[in-house]
Amino acid sequence: MFLEEIEMTFMAPCVSEENKIRLIAQMSTDISEVMPYLNAKIRNATYNKDTDTITFMKEVRLITLYPRKIFMAKAMNVTDAWQTLDWLKDTINEIYENRDDIEPDYQRRVRITALELYGWLPKTNCRECGELTCLAFAVKLLLGEQKIANCKPLFKPENAKMKELIFNVVSALGYEV
Ligand code: SF4
Repeated sequence: MFLEEIEMTFMAPCVSEENKIRLIAQMSTDISEVMPYLNAKIRNATYNKDTDTITFMKEVRLITLYPRKIFMAKAMNVTDAWQTLDWLKDTINEIYENRDDIEPDYQRRVRITALELYGWLPKTNCRECGELTCLAFAVKLLLGEQKIANCKPLFKPENAKMKELIFNVVSALGYEV
């Protein structure tokens, strides 16, 4: 088997929705070589060859894969988190086994929407970033006209986890943070 084990190393309630779960998990195998095949097969994936990451939504769950690490946010509960990790392991192994029949896709495609990014911002519309609303800031982030660093409220201690999440997503997408 290509990927034998996924071990959860961190689990906590989501910052913006405390009834949901965020987690970090470690993979027993480096999956870099499978990423272009995952990019070809997972409909809404965003692959960044430079950072060796692939990000996608599975229903409401946000998943970012690094060569040996998984970041997941918005799992419904603990059971759902484990089931989604099992699904990931099966999917990676299945795609690896069938890779000879799949055309690998090395293109970076950004498919995260401004509304999804908005979900990970403080949503106070405080205007400290120079934008009228957090949604406008999210739109500018996607256009490459804003940087996460300009959202000062994200750097407050109470927003530390939110900041970590959006930094992971935005840097995985290849944007300047
Ligand atoms: S600084 Fe951050 S919280 Fe304030 S409006 Fe801009 S994006 Fe929203």
